[in-house]
Amino acid sequence: MSSKIIVIIGAPGAGKGTQSRLLSEEYGYPQISTGEILREMARADTALGQTVKETMAEGRLVSDEILAEVIRARTTQPDCKDGYILDGYPRTLDQARLLEELASQQGKQIRFARIVVSEEALSKRLMGRRACPRCGEIYNIYFRPPKVDGVCDLDGAELVQRSDDHPEPVIRRLEEYKRSTAPLIDYYSKSGRLIEINGEQPVDDVFEKLLAAVDGPNN
Ligand code: AMP
Repeated sequence: MSSKIIVIIGAPGAGKGTQSRLLSEEYGYPQISTGEILREMARADTALGQTVKETMAEGRLVSDEILAEVIRARTTQPDCKDGYILDGYPRTLDQARLLEELASQQGKQIRFARIVVSEEALSKRLMGRRACPRCGEIYNIYFRPPKVDGVCDLDGAELVQRSDDHPEPVIRRLEEYKRSTAPLIDYYSKSGRLIEINGEQPVDDVFEKLLAAVDGPNN
């Protein structure tokens, strides 16, 4: 396969993280989750870390300037040489333009796929999400509860909820998505490069369609 950037677009809770992880295993490309990188930055005891932390906790988007730094620094690491998977980037038109620039500088083709999930399902997925802080296993109190309430099946650690998965930030994140990221969908659809996949199917079925989209000729 030629050197590729695989972009997974979708609302918060659409399953971008899960599918990106599977794609990463399939192709051996690194999964670049801007949300994860920003959460790491937010833990640092710096002015920048504090700004990022507050913005994320409110469910708002971190500035395009900060994201530009993050994405440039990460995608120029040696492990990205053959390709990489973007999980959570781009989220605005500005970010999409920067990505086009980076792709041409790096000599890579971009492949886009959008995972579509109804708003009702998104709210439940986000508000019901719990994670194991030790092994990273993801549960959902509505759809995939652990055997014992609040405890990881795999290693017995106490499950945690992301601070932005509480009701207020969830509402804000979904609003932000509609306001800032939905125009991006129009932008990519018009160029005929966006493949849409129904995200309300079993994980393996979504993955199979994603693989076909990524390997397909007309993207
Ligand atoms: P995620 O883990 O992808 O749901 O991202 C969590 C939070 O990180 C988002 O609600 C934003 O505050 C921030 N974030 C992640 N990616 C971006 C991005 N590309 N642009 C702006 N903010 C982002």
